[in-house]
Amino acid sequence: MRYFKQRMEIVEMFRKLDELGLTVGRSGNISLRAPDDPKIFLITPSGLVKRKLNPEDILIVDSDLEILEGERNPSVESPTHFAIYEKRPEVRAIIHTHSIHATAFAVVHKPIPPILEETVYLIGGEVKVAAFAQAGSDKLAKNVINALENKKAVLLANHGIISCGITLEDAFEVLQCVERTAKVYILARLIGKPTLIPEDVINIEKELYEINNFPFNEK
Ligand SMILES: [Zn+2]
Repeated sequence: MRYFKQRMEIVEMFRKLDELGLTVGRSGNISLRAPDDPKIFLITPSGLVKRKLNPEDILIVDSDLEILEGERNPSVESPTHFAIYEKRPEVRAIIHTHSIHATAFAVVHKPIPPILEETVYLIGGEVKVAAFAQAGSDKLAKNVINALENKKAVLLANHGIISCGITLEDAFEVLQCVERTAKVYILARLIGKPTLIPEDVINIEKELYEINNFPFNEK
């Protein structure tokens, strides 16, 4: 079986997401760029209960969504995953979930503001909302690319969140950070008026984000 280590990474990540309450049942999907070929991907199948996935359930596909290995149907959200990989060559892992607090923002079409320093240096700043389009559609893929910009997370209106990273652990850390920022904001609203971190700190943290993620960009 090709890419056994990467298949196991996905299987174990879904168990962790389920235990942490960041995903539930059949919802959510994960993909990885193959370590030896940037045009080959591993992606979860649609329809199965994700905490029960086995390594052989993971599909190996190319960027035209041709199935190279696997018996199941690839995630219906595959077009969105591939649009991100095409636009962002540094991205090697994508996680999509319907985690509660991030989805609450997605339902009111409200971006998650930079209220914590880590929201900026881990994610790149405010997490925007991609305009609503049907799950799995090319339109949704287009909307996600527009709202993601060069950051590592985006909300899907009335649906959930996508996080991405240079490793699967990185995408997981981003997902946790988005969920935590959303939860803190909602709780803060109950006891007072949330404030943003100062503009000059936002700019310093944004530079840190750029250096960590796009070290070869010209300034
Ligand atoms: Zn979804």
